[in-house]
Amino acid sequence: MLTLANYIRGELVPPAEGKYLDSFEPATGKLHARVPDSGAPDVEAAVAAAREAFPAWAATPAQKRSRLLLELARRIEERAGELARDESVDSGKTVTQALEREIPRAVSNFRFFGTAILHARTDAHRMDDFALNVTLRKPRGVAGLISPWNLPLYLLTWKIAPALATGNTVVAKPSELTPLTAFRLSEICREAGLPPGVLNIVHGTGARAGEALVQHPQVPTLSFTGGTQTGRRIAETAARGFKKLALEMGGKNPTVICADAEPEAALDGAVRAAFSNQGQICLCGSRVFVEASIYDDFAARFVARARQLKIGDPLLPETEQGALVSRGHRDKVLGCVKLAREEGGTIRCGGGAPEDLPERCRGGYFVQPTVITDLPPDCRTNTEEIFGPVVTLAPFTRDEEALTWANGTPYGLAASVWTRDLARAQRFADALDAGTVWINCWLVRDLRVPFGGMKQSGVGREGGDEALRFFTEPKNVCVKLGAP
Ligand code: NAD
Repeated sequence: MLTLANYIRGELVPPAEGKYLDSFEPATGKLHARVPDSGAPDVEAAVAAAREAFPAWAATPAQKRSRLLLELARRIEERAGELARDESVDSGKTVTQALEREIPRAVSNFRFFGTAILHARTDAHRMDDFALNVTLRKPRGVAGLISPWNLPLYLLTWKIAPALATGNTVVAKPSELTPLTAFRLSEICREAGLPPGVLNIVHGTGARAGEALVQHPQVPTLSFTGGTQTGRRIAETAARGFKKLALEMGGKNPTVICADAEPEAALDGAVRAAFSNQGQICLCGSRVFVEASIYDDFAARFVARARQLKIGDPLLPETEQGALVSRGHRDKVLGCVKLAREEGGTIRCGGGAPEDLPERCRGGYFVQPTVITDLPPDCRTNTEEIFGPVVTLAPFTRDEEALTWANGTPYGLAASVWTRDLARAQRFADALDAGTVWINCWLVRDLRVPFGGMKQSGVGREGGDEALRFFTEPKNVCVKLGAP
């Protein structure tokens, strides 16, 4: 069994208090690793290392920082197969999802920000009286980065890459449920020669390691991705220290299918949006509103497609649906299905654990793709995040009705709309409360665009220039040039 270590000051070190957490393989339910249960002393050591490394890293020429980030990308790419397998074992996701989408995205994250800093501009504004304003952007110091379990290396590197690129040093706290690829990243950083202390990774729970990081007075910048309740707590703590904060939180995203949509593309898109990564992507479309004239036919075809998804051992390349991340999360999702039944929903397919799993996976945390109909838009099932392979379908007759329902939750992360009428698409895009609206597509990601949520889905934006701004402090220098 693997025993993981923290990564502090360039070394792999055990937790100061010698405590460990058990980590289970979701596909089997068996113990597979021991994870440091770090506390305040580990966070203290990591922050001290990051603070010491900061002046030299901030002064390192952008060209050199870029070269190091590109080297990390190269080494991740080289080990993609091994990292994808680790991600699958640790999280229950299919090895195909990890290999085709998530590990390549971790590579892109480092390449994108490793080259973005080479093209960074400095704003200048000249005034009528010949004063010239030059706005410098300085790194802010130690950034505390906290990430969730659903896309472990993908989301962790989405924060690490811009923070390091802009000259900050980092203390990262990955999810305690899926720490393995973050541990591998620490090995890769050592091999690539990243200077000690520039990146530090502290493993452990949110309650101990996470809280210690959020509360630490020498961590002025915090970037968090995770649940809305956790985000609220972090925001309260961070406010007391006047920390700069970015929050990426939960979602309850609508998929709107209009009668004029291209039928096969819309069906494919809606199925993928509902069940990718077992519905455990913050952007998953878990409420599908279908124009009434095509509803019965669409619902029948959607249910048929959900039934066909191949559930099984996530390490096999043909598997389409793996396990949920933990026993606790599996039980929560099954509890949501029970609630949907109590609320009057009809379970059109799924609703429980699959029966025909391979021997190796009998103790795993699997839930069948589940489709529910006949629920009102304002019930708990339709307004609270489930974060599993559970989706509701409902018919709408007027676009305004679909919009009211789509916007009728506390969340506002993403939406996808399927129609061939581009004027109609624009009306939806304008009126939907969502940080991202996809028209005739889902999860198409350009790393240059602002990414994040409205309402209780997020505060601030990641991606492209937004990330470069977030991790830097503007400082305006005004030079009086004198009249010609
Ligand atoms: P979570 O909030 O339970 O945990 C996220 C991270 O925060 C973990 O590393 C955890 O250890 C840490 N944490 C927990 N309590 C903490 C505290 N008090 N102080 C500091 N850190 C703490 O979320 P999760 O269950 O890991 O992830 C699922 C959630 O993440 C879902 O709600 C999902 O929608 C959301 N998510 C959002 C996005 C996005 O971009 N908006 C992306 C992925 C996931």
